[in-house]
Amino acid sequence: MADEYLKEKVRELEKELEKSRAHEKVLGDLLEKKLNEIYVHYNISRTIGSVLDLRDMLQQVIGIVKKALPIEGISVYLLDERREKLELVFYSGLEPDRHTAIAIGQGTPGRIVETGEHIHIHDLSVFYDTLNDFIHYPGEEKKDGSYIGITLKAHNLTIGVIGMDNSSKYGLTVEDMDFLAILSHQLAAGIEKALLFEKIQRISQHDGLTGLYNYRMFQEKLLLEISRRGRTKKPLSLMMLDIDHFKQYNDNHGHQAGDEVLKELSRIIASQTRCHTIDTCCRYGGEEFAVIMPGLELEQAVKVASRLMKAVENAVFMITEKKLQSKVTVSIGVASVAGAEEILPEEFIKKADDALYLSKRNGRNQVNYVTS
Ligand code: GH3
Ligand code: MG
Ligand code: MG
Repeated sequence: MADEYLKEKVRELEKELEKSRAHEKVLGDLLEKKLNEIYVHYNISRTIGSVLDLRDMLQQVIGIVKKALPIEGISVYLLDERREKLELVFYSGLEPDRHTAIAIGQGTPGRIVETGEHIHIHDLSVFYDTLNDFIHYPGEEKKDGSYIGITLKAHNLTIGVIGMDNSSKYGLTVEDMDFLAILSHQLAAGIEKALLFEKIQRISQHDGLTGLYNYRMFQEKLLLEISRRGRTKKPLSLMMLDIDHFKQYNDNHGHQAGDEVLKELSRIIASQTRCHTIDTCCRYGGEEFAVIMPGLELEQAVKVASRLMKAVENAVFMITEKKLQSKVTVSIGVASVAGAEEILPEEFIKKADDALYLSKRNGRNQVNYVTS
């Protein structure tokens, strides 16, 4: 009898123990999940704190998020400076999207920005009929699965949207949504910092009127290219360009018309050189421009300069205010360094400047070069 009683007690105790083990496991799993989340937040904070470039930062942060959550496709849209449209700045795991720019109110990202609210759709197919234009773009194939769209807000102002999807229904859970909502604040602050850094960098390196590199960048790039060619021994050419009789142009047509010429001329310089890839195009000062051309020998550089000079000669410059057309010419000087020859930046500039002076003295609208 006593034996039976004891056995019953043991069974009860074993049941209790099993229950508390199960409970312990749930708590353990939860603790592990929370620790993981803290670790992910910590990693993301560290990345946001240390990486200044927007795309690098997004790439690293999204890499961390994708490891932590069952996200298959992810896209980041940011509002442009005028807050008129959303621009796709990053995507991963998706087809390169047709929608690189989205109007506010259009498609999911556009609607999220309009409302300023996060959204979570467990099963996209439920909304095929009622919300089709919300979850799909016109003409886009219908997708199955789940979707989370997070608004990015900095100082209470929406700056963009992150859209994430998983191809299974309920693939993205309420916990995932909560986690991402918390993350959105951190990420928005990081994006804002990176955008600000981009802006400051752009302002400090570029000329405000023409958009070309400024004098400071010219000095930096020239030094860099001279030291690079010191190792590679590849040729390096420098072109200095000055507008002819520009004082007179300003006197005749006004300073604003002169500014228009500087802007249009910069576009011509960019189109006639490898400005956005190999060459460095700068506004040296006032109405003088400089182009650093790595890899070009004197003969090739003179060819580029002559083509550019002709392009300016053939161009028509608008005087918007007076609805008139005008003509402008430029004088150019070219200097090159090749082989084992070594040169200091100031010597290089002087050579190109001397050549420019020759072009002026010989009658303007021409290209000259100085050999040592
Ligand atoms: P040259 O053919 O010998 O170069 O004659 P120039 O008149 O072009 O040369 P000068 O150095 O006498 O005059 C340069 C003019 O460039 C004077 C100045 O008003 C004008 N200039 C310099 N910077 C700007 C600018 O930012 N905007 C405008 N509109 N004009 C500028
Ligand atoms: Mg000048
Ligand atoms: Mg001039």
